[in-house]
Amino acid sequence: MQTPAPAGRDGETRPIDVVSLYPRDMNIYGDSGNVLTVTRRLALYGYEPHVHEINQGDPWPGRVDMILGGGGQDTGQKKIIDDLFRRADDLRAFAADGVPMLMICGLYQLFGDYFETIDGTRLDGIGIIGAHTIGRDVRMIGNLVEHSAQFGDVIGYENHSGQTFLDDGVEPLGHVDHDGTGNNGEDHTEGARVNNVIGTYMHGSLLPKNPAISDFLIRAAAERRHGAFEPRQGDAQRDELARIDGVAARARKVAAS
Ligand code: GLN
Repeated sequence: MQTPAPAGRDGETRPIDVVSLYPRDMNIYGDSGNVLTVTRRLALYGYEPHVHEINQGDPWPGRVDMILGGGGQDTGQKKIIDDLFRRADDLRAFAADGVPMLMICGLYQLFGDYFETIDGTRLDGIGIIGAHTIGRDVRMIGNLVEHSAQFGDVIGYENHSGQTFLDDGVEPLGHVDHDGTGNNGEDHTEGARVNNVIGTYMHGSLLPKNPAISDFLIRAAAERRHGAFEPRQGDAQRDELARIDGVAARARKVAAS
């Protein structure tokens, strides 16, 4: 699946270690597509991606350059919460150190301060994102289009019953004008961005349709691990990126029109 990319002048490889967090219980609506997309783009930029699937009880790999987590049902969230708390200090340290992370829906909620589920159970979150979530009896389902100052039009699909409210001063990922409800259906915000950590309700998968967000994560990982983001590509890799970016741009245009 990885396209061989030109090696550097001295032939060195440039690894990037990507953690796929809880793929067994938190991977709903195709969120694993985010891992595939990052892997593919890293290879096309001339990096060597290594994906580590980390479920409950698994040790961290020796290096962590990026963490991608998906959504899940309330039941999935209850299955991983104890393990998430065991990792909370490490995750906070990674976030403070600039490790790029993308947390979708169920994990976005648990990266906040707490999630009160519809049955009244309170799941404490790990507090990386200043936000809290309250489950309600109406699900927010459908296509979601938002505008982000940094990433432009962002498109995806939402399906959640939790309403998320950001603390004062926490930057949303984007704003929803018409299509979709976003964080809570009340204040037009969607997702959150704290340092290099992005939380969002966007399934879809998100990253194949929104290459600017993939590249933000890749750039941050490459700069932190290798000092700079420096694509090393031949024509074939450049053409392939242009092709897949063109497909994504068409999808965004249709969704945003
Ligand atoms: N269980 C959460 C909710 O319904 C998250 C759902 C999801 O990840 N799609 O709000």
